Formats: sequence, structure tokens, C-alpha cells
Amino acid sequence: MNGQISDFPLKRFAEFLDQRRNAHVDFLRRLIQTDTTVIGHGWDGGNEAAGQRLVRERLAALGCEIDEFIPDNDRLAKYRDAEGNLGHIYDNRPIVVGTYRGGNGRSLILNGHIDTMPVDSPEQWRCNPFGAEVVDGRVYGRGACDMKGGLAAAIMAVEALVEFGIEPKGNVIIQSVVDEEGGGNGTLAVCDRGYRADAAIITEPTNLEVRPAGMGFLLFEVTTSGRALHSSLKWQGVNAIEKAIKLIESLQELEHRWMMTRRHLLLPPPTINLGVIEGGSASSTVPDRCTFKICLHYLPTDDPDGFGTQVEQEIVDTLMQTSRGDGWLSDNPPVIRKYQAGAGFETSVDHPLVNIITEAFSEISGQRAAVTGCGFGCDARHVNKIAGTPTVVFGPGDPSAAHSVNEVLPLDQYFRAIEVLAMTIYRWTRS
Ligand SMILES: [Zn+2]
Repeated sequence: MNGQISDFPLKRFAEFLDQRRNAHVDFLRRLIQTDTTVIGHGWDGGNEAAGQRLVRERLAALGCEIDEFIPDNDRLAKYRDAEGNLGHIYDNRPIVVGTYRGGNGRSLILNGHIDTMPVDSPEQWRCNPFGAEVVDGRVYGRGACDMKGGLAAAIMAVEALVEFGIEPKGNVIIQSVVDEEGGGNGTLAVCDRGYRADAAIITEPTNLEVRPAGMGFLLFEVTTSGRALHSSLKWQGVNAIEKAIKLIESLQELEHRWMMTRRHLLLPPPTINLGVIEGGSASSTVPDRCTFKICLHYLPTDDPDGFGTQVEQEIVDTLMQTSRGDGWLSDNPPVIRKYQAGAGFETSVDHPLVNIITEAFSEISGQRAAVTGCGFGCDARHVNKIAGTPTVVFGPGDPSAAHSVNEVLPLDQYFRAIEVLAMTIYRWTRS
């Protein structure tokens, strides 16, 4: 512990948090019990309003200035990051931002999404997905992990500091956004509204790992055409599925090259996942059409312009080069359509916020903090890129529990997240 940060009353504050545990669990359970599912990935709206009311009441009681507004598609249209996500319905889906005015110290954004994925098969759950049952120190429910745990932890951390009497010395901006599961327009709208700070923490589930970098993603649909005929005359037709296989093999070679050559300190090599393939109507017919969809995850270091343009070009070049070597495909090139994209993000591992949060974790847990990267896409990219804010992802819960049946959050991680976030807010706003 160094002199600058030793003033935090670690022991007394931990005792205070222990007494507040029931209150902290109650708030989390109420959030989980309130349905805030997105509908049709945001294209058909969402149910976030009641959950946002709980958040707004809690932030207002804490003394935060409240700003409530709904995303505006017309305003979002100017952002390339909204590509593929414009036109979502936002009726009754307010974003809630609570600003705690702490003074002139360094400011901090705490960002989380209130929306959750829908519950597709409630009968497969061991308990009611909106029951927030606590069993063996774990709370079950849709959104428990992704990410009502992280959102509640951020609010409870600020509340605990204020109630304990060691309030933040800079502004803390708590953003409870909608439509993250629809692609991230909620946070884009918050950035568009002008919210800026000296740093930001996105409290998505990371198993309490500190993640200052994340991968970008691109989704493509590729369609090949052929010439349909009875299979007995196959040599006179053109098989669109076989042409697609040729293209897919070239993408696998590209993926292999990436795996051998692309390296990042915190992140795995880029990958290309073939997720969907559709084509043909009968085994006795030469298919005249095949469509496949790929999702690729790429490194922020392979993205000089922040829009994945370079990686997109590599995909297009690979497909077109393969096509030029094929008599049919050179005359009938595949139709390539990018239909969704999200940039990666990166904050230096030496950034002071990374130091403060890893030291807080170590002091509280007695263990070394793991500093890793985010394989999944999240709103960190908007805060980092659009708002130009150094951003770290850190939150309770195992990311593999997100979107799953029997989604669960271990409460010990929730309590620890509150404590680490509180200490981080305290020190960051005084640093
Ligand atoms: Zn999430």
C-alpha cells in the first residue's frame, strides 16, 4: 500500500458493507424480479421502463442529478457504429443517467445496461427466471449475471461511500442504458448526449477480472449462385453449395494465418466462425443458391480507423481472390453483405485507472488481480471511441452464465465488486 492511497478506511468500510449486505441483495433481487427484456433484439421494443424506475428512484435518493431520455434514431444515424441497428423502437425505454456531483476531482463514468435477453424456454429453468431465488449464496434469474449484478454493484458502491461519509471528490456519472442486447444504441445515445469523463468502468461480468481491451466483431452474409438441374446431369449444372465450400475453405486458411501471426498481450488471436449455412432444396437437385453467415472477432490492434475497415477488406479480398481463380465465380461473384459490426477497444494497461482498480482488488482480496481482455463485444467500444474515454470492463459474474438457462450470479462476487468499485471511485476521484 503506498502513501497516496493508504487513507482508505479499508477495515471499517468492509464492516459497514457487511452490515449492508441484506440491503444490497434486496436491491439486486428487485432488479432481477422486474422484467427488462429486449424484444426482437430491440427491433420490436423492450420492457426496460419498470427497471429503470427502480434505478432512477435509488439514484435520486442518493442525491444524484437525474437525466432521463429515450434514444433518438435520427440523432444516432450519423454514427457508423449504429450501422445495422437503426430503426429500433424506443417507446417507453428510457435511459437513466444519475450524476453524483462530487467536486473538482477526476470524474468517472460507471456504465451498465438494464436490458436483458428474453427467456426463451422457461420450462428448462430450475426456478422462476424472474424469481431471483437465492440458493447456496447464488442468485438465479434472467439478467443476474448480464448484467443486473454489475449495474446494482455500481449504484451500491456510490451509495455506500456516501452513506459511510467518504463521498467521491469528483463527479460520478452512473449510466443505466437500454438496448445493449440490441447492439448498443443506448450507450451510443448517452455518448451523443455529451457525457464525458476522465475514465469509465463498464460493469459487465468479467469474473472480477480487469479488462482494459476488447475484441471487435463483424458479421457477414455471403451468397453464391449456381445453375439448378437434376443431379443426374450434375456436370451441366453449377453447384452453389460446392462454390460456397470453396469460399469457406479460403476463409479457414485466412483464419489459420491470423492464428499464426496476430498476437495481443491480453486477447486471443482473431477467429472466423461459420455460424449458418443454407442452400439447396433436395439431394437430387443441383442447388442454385447457397448462403452462409460468418462472425469474426478481431483485435483492436488490427483496426487503425476504429471501424474494422481493414479487417473487412481482408475478408472481401480473400473471397474475391478465390472467386477470380474459379471459372464460374469469376463471372458470377458472391454477394457479400456486412450486416453488423462493433469495434474493439483498448486502454493502456499502464493507465492509472487500471492501476487503481487492480490495487483495490488485491488489497481487498489478498490476491493478485487478473488483467485480461474481453472476447465478447460490449458498450465499452462506444464510451472508449465516441466519448474518447479510457475504459475498463470489470464486474461480477462469470460471462459464460450470460444469456444462459439458469443464469446465476455468485453473491460473494457481487459483494466484492461493490467493495472494489467503491475503493476505486474513492481513489480515482482523489487522484
Ligand atoms: Zn451484457
